[in-house]
Amino acid sequence: MALSLEPELYQVAVDENGTYINNIPSLNTIKNGIRCPCGSRKNQIFKTSSGLTKHFDCEKHKSWLKSLNLERVNHYNELIKSKEIVKQQQKQIKELKLELQEKDKIIINQAKEINIKYNVQSTNLLEL
Ligand SMILES: [Zn+2]
Repeated sequence: MALSLEPELYQVAVDENGTYINNIPSLNTIKNGIRCPCGSRKNQIFKTSSGLTKHFDCEKHKSWLKSLNLERVNHYNELIKSKEIVKQQQKQIKELKLELQEKDKIIINQAKEINIKYNVQSTNLLEL
């Protein structure tokens, strides 16, 4: 049974000056298909390096790469912000897990109390 893999999102490379440049992914990656986030053709999947290379020459992709480079100073700041958000969310998840465990304990204890009460009542009923 063959697994159908989701096409990967195209990722640019970075040259020695820190500039984003086009990059042909490995053949294995291309085999599963590549989707480009530049927005030139939505949902188009590239399955050959020649198809992808041809796509790099279209105006939409070129201007996307250009704006990516113009914005690159902000990417570091965005990364720092994102890391902070991930840290906060991990903390929230931990707190929610603890809260959930506490509620589980309460439910178990209440269920025990109900059982005890029910057993007592049924015993009382049997005595009648
Ligand atoms: Zn593109």
